[in-house]
Amino acid sequence: MKKASSNPQTRQWQDLGRDHHLPPFTDYKQLNEKGPRIITRASGVHLWDSEGNRILDGMAGLWCVNVGYGREELAEAAARQMRELPYYNLFFQTAHPPALELAKAIAELAPEGMNHVFFTGSGSEANDTVLRMVRHYWAVKGKPSKKVVIGRWNAYHGSTVAGASLGGMKGLHGQGDLPIPGIEHIDQPYWFGEGGDLDPDEFGTRVAEQLESKILDLGEENVAAFIAEPVQGAGGVIVPPETYWPKIREILDKYDILFAADEVICGFGRTGEWFGSQHYGLKPDLMSIAKGLTSGYVPMGGVVVRDEVVEVLNQGGEFYHGFTYSGHPVAAAVALENIRILREEGIVERVKSETAPYLQHRWRQLAEHPLVGETRGVGMVAALELVKNKHSRERFPAEQAVGMRCREFCFDNGLVMRAVGDTMIIAPPLVIDPVEIDELIAKAHKCLDLTASAVLG
Ligand code: PMP
Repeated sequence: MKKASSNPQTRQWQDLGRDHHLPPFTDYKQLNEKGPRIITRASGVHLWDSEGNRILDGMAGLWCVNVGYGREELAEAAARQMRELPYYNLFFQTAHPPALELAKAIAELAPEGMNHVFFTGSGSEANDTVLRMVRHYWAVKGKPSKKVVIGRWNAYHGSTVAGASLGGMKGLHGQGDLPIPGIEHIDQPYWFGEGGDLDPDEFGTRVAEQLESKILDLGEENVAAFIAEPVQGAGGVIVPPETYWPKIREILDKYDILFAADEVICGFGRTGEWFGSQHYGLKPDLMSIAKGLTSGYVPMGGVVVRDEVVEVLNQGGEFYHGFTYSGHPVAAAVALENIRILREEGIVERVKSETAPYLQHRWRQLAEHPLVGETRGVGMVAALELVKNKHSRERFPAEQAVGMRCREFCFDNGLVMRAVGDTMIIAPPLVIDPVEIDELIAKAHKCLDLTASAVLG
């Protein structure tokens, strides 16, 4: 257990947390025993906590602060829009300039033929929208039996009822009788964890083939869509084997079902392309977006929709779906400014040609550490596996909580690195520079050493 802070201001905030706040994805009893770390400010790729510690944010918040912290232009854009028109909705045949201009800006960046955007307040709401939109689409097309959406085990598509159901996290499913009916799952392309004796390419093909078996089992006439993250994020940065996406594409081409790419993490530059679908050459019919759309400065999400789907929706009468904050003008103004920054500063191009290759090169050097069984990554997202035995891929017993201990060492030594079980993951702001990448790697190395001494003795 961490010692209680000696700083009275920190203790006061921690008391407020215990007395009044129910934070997301938290074991309340466990947190109340020590209190949360209080983050008070941030600049560039660094955070400061209430104890004055400077911490390199290796997770860009929650994979979202793509342009880094402290961009005045985003604050200005929000303030300007608040003065001009702080709120109006997009219901009842009204609209406002920021939402319309943002829809166009997104269409310009999206894969060809995806020219319309439905706005939401978050990534979860985007995926709820995907579920409702694909079912509505097939009903309008005269095929109302096409309702089932196929997702993947250990995928993350949000924590609303539909988002958690589309996702494949058994912990989420266990709370509240999820998934809801009409959602099925196939295995994830997680070679390190589930590949057994197969080589990665063979494994990639085999798990992709499960999509075809699932479609055939359910009957093509009952399947509406397949949903997947180009790179699974919250599941542990699962970068699929090279054979995986080509095989999935082949199957999607063969059957009359829609493909929804969940780009909530991969979108807006994370892979070195504007969207992960472009990195992998995918042709989605719908793309969920959020996070990097506004660099997390204000909440916003959306679904980018292919022209052919829009043509059908246009024939469907009213789509009974939407949110008070769909296309919120302040969020839209911030998103527009965020996209301007990403474009004009050439941030996505720099990730692709300079900083991501450097990060990936340095990250792979961590594979030499005795505790590391694999390193993997693409663009500005990466993972490493903590193992007991590098060669057999044998894990530590779960009760040793090695990942959690490593995460705590990181926090205490000025680095945010997240743990998914014993998989350590990073997704730093896209603006991280080579000197800061060196800082990240040096701190990660030190924390691996500390973890190794703690668990190996
Ligand atoms: N999809 C993916 C791929 C995500 O990573 C997340 C959030 N981590 C979501 C959906 C849900 O987004 P939100 O938390 O904004 O609802």
